Amino acid sequence: MVKEKWYLRSADDVIDYFRSHGEEGLTTQEVRSRLSRHGYNEMAAAQRASRWQIFISQFQDFMVLVLLAATLISAFLGEYADSFTILVIVIVNAALGYFQEYRAEESIETLKKMVAPIALVIRNGMVQQVPARSLVPGDILVLEAGQKIAADARLIECQFLEADEAVLTGESLSVRKNCYPIAAENSSLGDQNNMTFSGTTVTRGRGKGVVCATGMDTEVGQIADLMSAIGHEETPLEKRLEQLGKKLVWSCLIICLLVVITGVMKGESLFLMCMAGISLAVAAIPEGLPAIVTVALALGVQRMIRRNAIIRKLPAVETLGCITAICSDKTGTLTQNVMTVREIYINGTSYETTGLGYEIQGEFLCNKQKVSLQAESILDRCLRVGVYCNNSVLKKNTVSIGGSWRKRTTEFSIEGDPTEGALIIAGAKAGIWRNDLEKQAKRICEIPFEPERRRMSVLYEESPQEWTLYTKGAVDTILDLCRYQESATGPALFSDDDKQSILAANAQLTDKALRVLALAYRKISALPVVQSETENLECDLVFVGLMGMIDPPREAAKQSIMVCRQAGIKTIMITGDHPNTAVAIAQELSMYQAGKSRVLTGAELDALNDREFKKIVNDVVVYARVSPSHKLRIVRALKQRGHIVAMTGDGVNDAPAIKEADIGIAMGKTGTDVAKEASAMILTDDDFATIVAAVEEGRGIYDNIRKFIRYLLACNMGEVLTMFAAALLGVPLPLLPVQILWVNLVTDGLPAMALGVDGHDRNIMFRPPRFPGESVFSRGLSHKIMARGFQIGFSTLGVFAYVYFIKDDLVLARTMAFTTLVFCQLFHVFDCRSEVASIMDVGFFTNKYLIGAVSCSVLMQLAVLYIPVLRNVFATVPLLPTDWALVLIVSGWTFLLTILKKILWRRTASRSVFSRT
Ligand code: ATP
Repeated sequence: MVKEKWYLRSADDVIDYFRSHGEEGLTTQEVRSRLSRHGYNEMAAAQRASRWQIFISQFQDFMVLVLLAATLISAFLGEYADSFTILVIVIVNAALGYFQEYRAEESIETLKKMVAPIALVIRNGMVQQVPARSLVPGDILVLEAGQKIAADARLIECQFLEADEAVLTGESLSVRKNCYPIAAENSSLGDQNNMTFSGTTVTRGRGKGVVCATGMDTEVGQIADLMSAIGHEETPLEKRLEQLGKKLVWSCLIICLLVVITGVMKGESLFLMCMAGISLAVAAIPEGLPAIVTVALALGVQRMIRRNAIIRKLPAVETLGCITAICSDKTGTLTQNVMTVREIYINGTSYETTGLGYEIQGEFLCNKQKVSLQAESILDRCLRVGVYCNNSVLKKNTVSIGGSWRKRTTEFSIEGDPTEGALIIAGAKAGIWRNDLEKQAKRICEIPFEPERRRMSVLYEESPQEWTLYTKGAVDTILDLCRYQESATGPALFSDDDKQSILAANAQLTDKALRVLALAYRKISALPVVQSETENLECDLVFVGLMGMIDPPREAAKQSIMVCRQAGIKTIMITGDHPNTAVAIAQELSMYQAGKSRVLTGAELDALNDREFKKIVNDVVVYARVSPSHKLRIVRALKQRGHIVAMTGDGVNDAPAIKEADIGIAMGKTGTDVAKEASAMILTDDDFATIVAAVEEGRGIYDNIRKFIRYLLACNMGEVLTMFAAALLGVPLPLLPVQILWVNLVTDGLPAMALGVDGHDRNIMFRPPRFPGESVFSRGLSHKIMARGFQIGFSTLGVFAYVYFIKDDLVLARTMAFTTLVFCQLFHVFDCRSEVASIMDVGFFTNKYLIGAVSCSVLMQLAVLYIPVLRNVFATVPLLPTDWALVLIVSGWTFLLTILKKILWRRTASRSVFSRT
């Protein structure tokens, strides 16, 4: 099929071709019919492993295959019951493995769905957010800085629009876009400046385009599947465990071989010993460990989703527990991002506004007296500048109170930037509405807000050949561009004294934690010929006034910052706002202590070289008036000082710092696609407290992984030791092959998984962060595993030897050893729940999964002892109360001892662990 060359045609021509409309877009009905014709806007998905394939893969383990082969041989030799039992156990084990892996796959799929891209389109005459997959040819795409473009589109409107097309063209510099047709017949992608392509990103400006190709028809769809998707990226811990697993496999195999050889030399039958050796290898090799780690990580990730944190890269879960510094944006993360204009400063006079949040009822007061806007023409002008120079939309929603039919009321909400929303609301309080203003004047173009420029301007045609530029932005930036000041008699020259008094007023407002914008305008007599000249219009402005808005700190942020302090994590505020505003908010949040903490502005940071900055970086708590590019330096300096850094961001230019940080965090609500794509974690509620919750979860997940590693390895070691020591001592096999496999099934599967979802230690956020390179066996875990492994092995063997030699009953001795081994492990699982607290502190019944798993294991063991058919299969005899007493004392005494020891240890340790601040 020959591809249509949309870049040759005019914008109107392309709109007509697709039977669309630049202002109205398509109708919902039309979109539906085009969707059925063109299909969804998605890349052909890579085939997912089917459930059946996952199940079959459980049998592909080498040792399981050897076991199955041996089972087949034993069936040929007439050992039907044994073969059947082994087969059932292998299948149940495979089912467990399948369940674990399937859950892991499912959670990764859920994650993919949660970060599914969205697109801004005009449909039915309204701008709306839709899932990117629902885009169809003819849709009118609205493009904004930071967006990932979701389909190929022919541009129909551009305001300083630039796109990063490196994924398609390899060109690292952003490409400036326009809407004019291109004459050159065979333009390469890089030269098609009136087109935007799926998979590329908008780096600057705004624009609109009509969608020409979706899904596999797009340029990116045709060359490769470049859409980034979340896959299962192995975490460092998983990699280390895989290496450890390999070592364990070899050591287990060698020991099993030794068991077989020694057994045969001591006169046991070769076939029995081979079966025992293979069963032991199957039981002792922790083949399920990586899968349980993945499940623990994946389930943890799901818990994080419930707490509003989406993990995009699985390794981040581990890093979260190591974080020593969190660099957070102020606006929206530490504060609520619900702005309300509180004070307006004009020509030496301060006005107060009343009314909270998005309420449009409110008054303007001067010295507590209500003022009329007719009498205060400059105040009126100031509010108008704020409403003109604005892209936010005030939405009117009808909501019902107390049931749908009782009472209906109107609520307002803001769509767009909350800073601009505050200006719209302030205007509405004075009866100035953007819709009305735009009926009288026509918007010609916009010079968009960018954090680096800290200002925004719009140009309106108010009457033929009369244009006005409205500008707003950070006070220091705007004052430098002003030449006049608005007065009752019109613009007057702006003196140095005027500037000083405005700066003093600004300092007063910012000291009250208000975010301040300066508003200005300029009459223009001739329009610039080319777009690049438009930026030059921002000079010789007429200063009108200052507007100070409150943005209260988030409720939970103060508490979370305290938690961070206790957890050894430094919190740092990074903002483009004025230093006074930043410090005032930091003080409210108890982040900043006058005299102790340091604040650094972007300009001061620029004056320092890297060595000087590295020296002081640990003292700085607030960075103000910084641009996104400074964030990269901050992350690097902190990393050089040994910190593990989490960095938040939302804009296009935050992406490098987000990538550089150990954990890059993007805002789910206000973040751009570029920031989200660079991040390892997304906060769906943009809230600082969510970062801290995620750190807590990260620490908890790592603890749980340590818990079941401790459990599984100690149990497996106990099993191997029992068999190995028995072989060395020349006593008969203490456990038969089916019994070994049974122990593996009863104790390894469910209880280990239940540990993986255990709750967190109460002191989890009272301890310092974990060292990133730390071995999973550090802090005494290897000793604990070995000591417990020996205890389990020798208790089992001791019971076996005692019954065998004293009572001279091999079947009873095996039954009791078998049961002792199972109960040793079931007692041990409770011990693994905490490394510091006793089970009484943790609460015996707090992990209901574990109680369920252990009860299930106990019942299964009882079934094997008391159901006659199973007794035959497992070669057991029913135990008498005296036998039980021995089994329970031997397997449980260490458990009781550990409880006692822990209680004593905690008494002394609590002073150091729990009193940390
Ligand atoms: P952060 O989100 O990083 O805490 P911030 O939101 O305060 O910081 P920016 O959005 O970069 O930082 O804004 C920096 C400054 O630019 C603000 O202090 C304000 O003076 C000005 N500003 C912010 N938004 C706008 C806007 N929409 N139009 C014009 N000026 C703006």
